[in-house]
Amino acid sequence: MVNTDTVAFVNGVIYTGFSPPRRVRGLAVVNGIVVYAGDPARAAGIVKGLGGDIVDLGGKVAIPGFVDAHLHLDSLGMSLRSADLRGVRSIAELRERIRRFLEQHPDTEVVFGRGWDQELFKEGRWPTRWDIDDVTGDRPAVLVRVCGHAALLNTRALVESGLIDVKSPLIMRREDGEPTGVVKEEFVQRAIEALGARRGLVKALEEGARYVAAHGVTEVGFVSCNLDSLNAVMELWRRGKLPIRVRLYLEPEAFRRCSSCLAPGFGDGLLRVTGLKVIVDGSLGARTAWLSEPYADDPSTRGSLLWSYEELKEVAMLAFERGFQLAIHAIGDATLDIVLRLYRELGVSQGDRARVEHASVARPEQIAEMAKIGAVAVVQPHFVITDWWVVRRVGKGRVTWVYPFRTMVRRGVRLALSTDAPVEPVDPFETLYAAVTRGINEGIELGRITPNETLEVHEALDAYTRGSAYALRDPMAGSLEPGHYADLVVLSADPLATEPTKLRDIEVVETYVGGRRVYP
Ligand SMILES: [Zn+2]
Ligand SMILES: [Zn+2]
Repeated sequence: MVNTDTVAFVNGVIYTGFSPPRRVRGLAVVNGIVVYAGDPARAAGIVKGLGGDIVDLGGKVAIPGFVDAHLHLDSLGMSLRSADLRGVRSIAELRERIRRFLEQHPDTEVVFGRGWDQELFKEGRWPTRWDIDDVTGDRPAVLVRVCGHAALLNTRALVESGLIDVKSPLIMRREDGEPTGVVKEEFVQRAIEALGARRGLVKALEEGARYVAAHGVTEVGFVSCNLDSLNAVMELWRRGKLPIRVRLYLEPEAFRRCSSCLAPGFGDGLLRVTGLKVIVDGSLGARTAWLSEPYADDPSTRGSLLWSYEELKEVAMLAFERGFQLAIHAIGDATLDIVLRLYRELGVSQGDRARVEHASVARPEQIAEMAKIGAVAVVQPHFVITDWWVVRRVGKGRVTWVYPFRTMVRRGVRLALSTDAPVEPVDPFETLYAAVTRGINEGIELGRITPNETLEVHEALDAYTRGSAYALRDPMAGSLEPGHYADLVVLSADPLATEPTKLRDIEVVETYVGGRRVYP
């Protein structure tokens, strides 16, 4: 449906790409594909002859649409209807935010919230169900930590989900053995599913996709897509209600159930089944990411691997042999060792574009190996600001291994940018700002110690368009040169002519996918 558009964009400052930056004033689009980039009169001439429309950009700046290589479209859509708990500074404030949310959404049956971080709490401890039971009242409540790897359940939710009876080290307990309501890793999803968070999923996905388009993002890698979400996103697509391009990375269970009937490449330019996503370790925030040496601020642990190597290899091999792209989450460097071993044993090569999600802690020799086998680093620059405590976690000795974006680029690793939304904000200008400044203005310690790891604005833009399209195996995206999708975003200012500190003030004026306006 989107691909039927024939239109010329004229009188703009149009960047066709950033490596190196190239500017034109006109673009001719036929059936959603750029056929000419250059002189506006000529672009208009091509399109008029075909009966197409003319869009006068009135001197505004347009760039290729942002490609977010890793986000969770289902959780993002759901989070738009949840209590926003980001930046909460105390347990009292957590309670206040929930109270206010319920005041604004009085018909809420199950309270979902997202974004708290106990590191920010002035009480200096994890929250418990007893902290929230009275404000949530009779309804079950699931409040997911900022990283998505831990959640606080109230007593009602703990009982209704059945997790109150489960014995696992991933379910936190008081000294007397009572579960506190905090659950980690797989139990987060278990709780969410048990409490029916997925009701209204099609609507939530549509809202999520519209929200993404409104932020200038024209294509996403939808990772950890489970069966329910797969069915829901396919329904949206069939109904012609998908405003952006989506590349699907199934989680292992959905992959096992669908891999015989769903070949990679199934779909079209809008929706395409692309890969398998496996989460192999946790997060630095929850100290569940697997490090080669113990955490500096808790020597009793170095995190853990969530899969045995044999299990991981079995599912990855099956996917690899069937032509699914591999996308494996590795936050700790010990996990990255495992992923690189896997890629070596599978014999991946440049053309496979095997992905490493996050690659948050990466030693120099690991970066060299990633470059050698053509592994793509799918990174989230905004983690640098959110993980403001990270130097304490890993200690000074390992600090140069954390979010080493520039080193990766310099060593020849293909870099793709993303937000992991709803973990980080979808807004590409927040991501760009973080990549370019490393939070130096926010007093981020990592940024102060590793200023050499910042990216230039044009490098970050290149990684966020061409680089991310590469990570999604999409040769038609990430550029406005002829032969590419006419996916573009019109901006209030030129990011290449904007002070780094002002990048976040740039606004998305319009978003086009396949030459058709999808926002506003
Ligand atoms: Zn992940
Ligand atoms: Zn993720």
